[in-house]
Amino acid sequence: MGRRRIQRRSRYTCIMSDCLFCKIIEGVIPADIVFRNENVVAFNDLNPQAPTHVLLIPTLHTENAAGVARNSATITADLFLAADQIANDRGLNGYRTVFNTGEDAGQTVFHAHLHLLGGRPMAWPPG
Ligand code: 5GP
Ligand code: ZN
Repeated sequence: MGRRRIQRRSRYTCIMSDCLFCKIIEGVIPADIVFRNENVVAFNDLNPQAPTHVLLIPTLHTENAAGVARNSATITADLFLAADQIANDRGLNGYRTVFNTGEDAGQTVFHAHLHLLGGRPMAWPPG
């Protein structure tokens, strides 16, 4: 699997050449990017499940949420802080954040991503 470092980004940036979300980080695949900082890129989900459905991804490729946590507490925090900032900027009256881990949980893209969902009432338990 191709693996290369990108210059002049976060020291936590690492791109996998065959990963869909790494390609979005690089701009090789277009996305509607709504937020970007040193460690996080956020973009609208292609198939939104709520009026706000943003995916927040670490610029350091890793498969799932536990991988993010193992890599860096800073990046883990940055994902949640960016989600909170986006939600506050949009004036959301509450929001849900979700990491799906593994196929049974519905994970389909194996670059960790935090779903930010809001703008409608959320049911519990989730499906
Ligand atoms: P998962 O099911 O892995 O938790 O979430 C993957 C999410 O990525 C899905 O909600 C899906 O709609 C979204 N997605 C898949 N491919 C693309 C893409 O090419 N662009 C964007 N913006 N979202 C995508
Ligand atoms: Zn990736």
